[in-house]
Amino acid sequence: MTCLKPEGALPGATGTDGLDFNAYDRMEPRKPGATPAPFRNGKPVKDANISPAGLYRPDYRVMTPHMRSPEYVQMSTAAAITLGLVEGQMHGCSCTRCLNLLLTYPEGCRANCAYCGLARHRESERNYADRNFIRVDWPAVSMDEIVDRIAADVKGTPFHRMCISMITHPNSDEDTVTVLKKWTDRIDPDAIPISILSNPTTMTRDDVQRLRDMGSDIFTVALDAATPELFDRTRGKGVQSPHTWKKYWDTLLEARDIFGPQKFGAHIIVGMGETEYEVMKVVQELVDLGGHSHMFCFFPEKGSLMDHLPATPRDQWRRVQLARYLVDYCGVRIDQMKFDEQGRISDFGMPASELSVIIDAGIAFRTSGCPGKFAEDISACDRPYGDSPPSNIASYPFALKDVDIRKVRSQLGMLRPGETYEPGEEFDL
Ligand code: SF4
Repeated sequence: MTCLKPEGALPGATGTDGLDFNAYDRMEPRKPGATPAPFRNGKPVKDANISPAGLYRPDYRVMTPHMRSPEYVQMSTAAAITLGLVEGQMHGCSCTRCLNLLLTYPEGCRANCAYCGLARHRESERNYADRNFIRVDWPAVSMDEIVDRIAADVKGTPFHRMCISMITHPNSDEDTVTVLKKWTDRIDPDAIPISILSNPTTMTRDDVQRLRDMGSDIFTVALDAATPELFDRTRGKGVQSPHTWKKYWDTLLEARDIFGPQKFGAHIIVGMGETEYEVMKVVQELVDLGGHSHMFCFFPEKGSLMDHLPATPRDQWRRVQLARYLVDYCGVRIDQMKFDEQGRISDFGMPASELSVIIDAGIAFRTSGCPGKFAEDISACDRPYGDSPPSNIASYPFALKDVDIRKVRSQLGMLRPGETYEPGEEFDL
């Protein structure tokens, strides 16, 4: 998709240039600069070699302690609040249902994905454990402490799932196994199912098999980009990053064989320059393979190579969110949908009355991810405000209220006759 003409916009467009979608030509990442030698490979942290003391909250004004997986992991701020390690409140939700863990090393992730706050090029400005992923900080803590806390009351835990996010590092395959073993030695994987957010670039089929044999329930691949060109531009050669589209798909297919139907999937970020048709083609392909897609709305993370670019217009995001839900959970196929000449969804392939019921249920607009214990289509992983600020929510980490549904309907251009939504109305309640 190369057209940037404002006349391409649907009525009610909310994006830049008068468009209601992020077009490929507009979404060019910056090129990464060279990192001066004194900042490469976590050298400042390794040279200072400060021992960690308890939980470490990202703070670039102090020297980052030397923390390394498998002894240490980072966790989402939402998980740290839920676990009682950090004080805080999250707009609209009291806890998260997924304990998201992230491997950590002073050298950090060796990849350079253009949209990611953890990317390698950032080592010249900030130590790894002080970088945020997308939007939120990830405090670091010892894995033993996490296991102690959960094992003390597995039945009473608010977590429905635990997820280990691998990063691109020579030790991450082995360390993921060790972190997993620390967990499964004390916590029954049937009580709290385990997901793996993988890093295919360093993985073999045996690695995938081993994670399954050790009790992991779901295996996902962070494909992120919806087309080979976009993948290469944002996480491959275009940004001096090691990932390839082929390796990611090879690993996804291995996961399908090893984990089986409904137990594998891919993350996709919407709004990095793909068309709605292109992203929906991937969604359909995943469902046809027996898996699921987990979606994120592009957010221009400060310090990333895409921080100068617009967040995904809500019009585009809502159309794709809704269409993805129909394909993943309602049996609709993309060949029943219609797309306009710019690849935008113009017909969802379902009678208006049925579509209306699905919109009003609100689940389509909640965070997507691996299921928890409430329902198959309600993600345990609600990632509060991981792809938007609370003032303009992309993925709702809570059940939508009437005002939220009206807001979503207004973004979709689907308000019912006589129905209104005033911007900010949800904060007046
Ligand atoms: S591999 Fe993952 S953590 Fe590393 S830069 Fe890419 S998106 Fe970020």
